[in-house]
Amino acid sequence: MARRNDRRKREDISAERIEILFTLAEKEAVSGDLGQANYYVKSARDICTRTKTPIPGFLKRKFCGGCGHFLKPGVNCRTRLDSRHKRVEVTCGDCGRVSHYPYVREKKEEG
Ligand SMILES: [Zn+2]
Repeated sequence: MARRNDRRKREDISAERIEILFTLAEKEAVSGDLGQANYYVKSARDICTRTKTPIPGFLKRKFCGGCGHFLKPGVNCRTRLDSRHKRVEVTCGDCGRVSHYPYVREKKEEG
């Protein structure tokens, strides 16, 4: 049977849904409704757990790993550049968790 193919398909659909949910979350955050934005992030993460699909790396930076809230720079999180370690430091304004990720653009220029 085509069970394996079905699974593939389901993962594709869930990845698409996750992206849509993050787009919606971004929109809500821009219009100031962070509660709704957080709800979209939660739904996206629920889909990931249910379908065992990883959240794409570029979307991982858009929410807090501690409280799961959508992170909107200048609204509920602080973004700083840590030039000594060549990384971006994001502090969640809701739970205070700090996450880091490397400068991506510079890496690209080097290679
Ligand atoms: Zn947080």
